[in-house]
Amino acid sequence: MTDVLRAARQIAPHLPPTPSWSYPVLDARLGAETIVKHENVQPTGAFKVRGGINLLAGLPADRRAAGVVTYSTGNHAQSIAYAARMFGAPCTVVMPENPNPAKVAAVRALGATVEIKGGTVGEAGEYAAQLAAHGDEEGPRLVSPAEDPEIIAGVGTLYLELFARHPELDAVFVPVGSGTGAAAACLVAAAVAPRCRVIAVQSELAPAAYETWRTGEPVRRPVRTAADGLATGAPFALPQRIMRGLHDFMLVGDDDIYRAQRLLLAEGHTLAEMAGAAPLAALAARREEFAGARVAVICTGGNAAPAELARLLPED
Ligand SMILES: *Cc1c(COP(=O)(O)O)cnc(C)c1O
Repeated sequence: MTDVLRAARQIAPHLPPTPSWSYPVLDARLGAETIVKHENVQPTGAFKVRGGINLLAGLPADRRAAGVVTYSTGNHAQSIAYAARMFGAPCTVVMPENPNPAKVAAVRALGATVEIKGGTVGEAGEYAAQLAAHGDEEGPRLVSPAEDPEIIAGVGTLYLELFARHPELDAVFVPVGSGTGAAAACLVAAAVAPRCRVIAVQSELAPAAYETWRTGEPVRRPVRTAADGLATGAPFALPQRIMRGLHDFMLVGDDDIYRAQRLLLAEGHTLAEMAGAAPLAALAARREEFAGARVAVICTGGNAAPAELARLLPED
């Protein structure tokens, strides 16, 4: 928790707090006071930038000069590239073959070098590790998407902001891919809002983190969800360890996520990507249980792919 407080000081000069408030029609539809925490308005379009900035801010100048190398297909890559540009650190992102061209363009536009290597994120990670190991002490810093404590601490600042503004929350719903966000929510809630239940949400079409949490054994699962922020096929040890503190973990269907994405757009004036709408889908699935409660849903990101945008717009 002290790490999260330090992270809050590190990122304060670079990122203003994001808004969190409710929308009357959304509240009426859900039957609960529904606070939307708007990470979709971050400069990279997702909450992960908090972790990237905290990590780069904490590196000594000589380590920054040696650069960072990471691997990812999505929002993590943009977060590290954004933070590296902010701190003048060279940045290489390794992406697996056949990457989404829009995401390659976004990372390149932030000044990072993109290398396409490996058939999976895991293989891209092995190549990134080779790049980092290549040098001696001057070699670039390898940044794991989920196993770096600085990333989890940085992401935790979102929950400091949320509980400072809304200390009386009954529950917070957090979407899970690797689990850094849900782990951070557990740490901060336990320290400052112990009465608030932390409920993690994953897609039933990519349930590896959920099955791992439920069984206590590392479980791999196929990834068939269209929600790319939730598309993780294998668990990450550090966030899983901290997620033992979750009050609950649940699965939602992609159709439910799509309906929640529409609801956020129509009644919350908010463009969420699918992962960012999963918490609202989870609340909608449990609306009887939470009738009259005060609940937060973390809209983790707004980087909807072109196909998602096209699907959201037509009226049926
Ligand atoms: C990465 C991501 C998630 C999942 O977060 P983890 O910390 O990996 O569990 C959820 N939503 C969005 C928009 C993301 O980019």
